[in-house]
Amino acid sequence: MPNHQDRLAALRRSVEELMPDELQGMIEDEDDFALIDVREPEEIRQGALPGAIPLPRGYIDTDAKNLLPDTSRKVVAYCAGGVRSLYAAEQLQALGYSDVSSLAGGFGRWSDQGFEINEGTSFSAGTPASTELPAGVTSIGPEELAAKLDSGLQVVVLDVRDTDQVDAGRIAGSQHIARGFLELKIETAVPAKATELIVLDQDGSRSAAAAASLLAQDYSSVAVLSGGFAAWEAAGKAVDKPFVLSDADRARYARHLNIPEVGPEGQAKMLQSKVLLIGAGGLGCPTALYLAAAGIGTLGILDFDVVDESNLQRQVLHNIDSIGKPKVDSAAEALRKLNPAINIVTHNTRLDSTVVEDIFSGYDVVVDGTDNFPTRYLINDCCVKLGIPNVHGSVYRFDGQVTVFAPTLGGPCYRCLYPEPPPPELAPSCAEAGVLGVLPGIIGTLQAMETIKVVLGIGEPLVGKLLVYDGLKCSFEIKKLFKDPECDYCAAEEFPGFVDYEFFCSNPAVV
Ligand SMILES: [Zn+2]
Repeated sequence: MPNHQDRLAALRRSVEELMPDELQGMIEDEDDFALIDVREPEEIRQGALPGAIPLPRGYIDTDAKNLLPDTSRKVVAYCAGGVRSLYAAEQLQALGYSDVSSLAGGFGRWSDQGFEINEGTSFSAGTPASTELPAGVTSIGPEELAAKLDSGLQVVVLDVRDTDQVDAGRIAGSQHIARGFLELKIETAVPAKATELIVLDQDGSRSAAAAASLLAQDYSSVAVLSGGFAAWEAAGKAVDKPFVLSDADRARYARHLNIPEVGPEGQAKMLQSKVLLIGAGGLGCPTALYLAAAGIGTLGILDFDVVDESNLQRQVLHNIDSIGKPKVDSAAEALRKLNPAINIVTHNTRLDSTVVEDIFSGYDVVVDGTDNFPTRYLINDCCVKLGIPNVHGSVYRFDGQVTVFAPTLGGPCYRCLYPEPPPPELAPSCAEAGVLGVLPGIIGTLQAMETIKVVLGIGEPLVGKLLVYDGLKCSFEIKKLFKDPECDYCAAEEFPGFVDYEFFCSNPAVV
């Protein structure tokens, strides 16, 4: 059963590998050979070896003969790390090139050893010649593919185009593996070798060779989309235009892009997401800082209060110049300095039943950083009504709690635990509630983490779980929370309506 590792081992036996100093010697001796860069176009644009001819792997079968007409001339191929160039050498050998080598360790080792790097160049493909389908590969047209997708059959549409082509539009649900990486990545993306694969490229000229390589790697059912993506578009079929990260986004969020659970797609999700923070106080400030820094695209901030000197002990978005200003303005100013590219929406208002639904509508996640019962119930009820996850935090002296109330994700709502607020005489007095300044920093950043997990759909958010933090012991404990199957709000067929509970203390504290 040939898989990528077997093929690679065989290639290492059949293709000569040159070390960087050997290649440097050939360049110095002015040997007659063609040096080709088989990386993806976007990699070649960022820097290349001196004198290299750009020829990305995906274009070898269609363009090699134009660029390198003499098949008896020596060819040295390189990629980033020395694996893709071995596959490129195999492609060239199949096209009749008799003397092909690969640069061991590729561009990476070449530059690590201090050899010269030139500015990158761009690659432009020639006019493709019509290619015949290799034995075993079938072709289907756009109509047939659309019908297959509509019928819900188990097929994988494999898009092997360049990244910039895919960024401009793709078939919904297709998987993108650039041609250059196909053999290396296919087994992770599609482990079952009997899966029906439909390979597509831009115009139908490059998919046949890609399909043949998949057959050689033991995939048993491989077809190509005739005419490629262009034919799909020309037939008027639906095209998914993905949100594309700008160069500035890629630079700013570079540390997110190489986390597999985030990556460019996750970052794009964050930039398109809308999160509403209730309270620009002790909890809201750290949450907002990290969500803004992480690139949550729209950050709403709701608060009706102004900054007071006693807030500065914990509310880290505000400073001495903000005293007396509305908290939402002070917060927005600080956040815009941190990340000017995101959209900050301020709601300088008290939350009550008349405005809550209008404000919450359109947000993907609500973060509750308030510490008073009337607001807590309103937030819960509105989130239940609109199906918005509610990332809830609270703090008292040295103790904090975090949970995610999200009936849509299978967990309870706040009312499953506390159907009604306590009577005023039993409610804690807001005036006496003290809090150590660092504590909301800890709980607020945990809320930011839970928010990002919910936005990205990764990990295990605290749904149905309450995290209890004891700052004096430095202990974290997780308690299970249970859904009330009789809950008047999240289990009811009809929404019972909003309630404005009376305030329990004269100064309802946003912590
Ligand atoms: Zn409930």
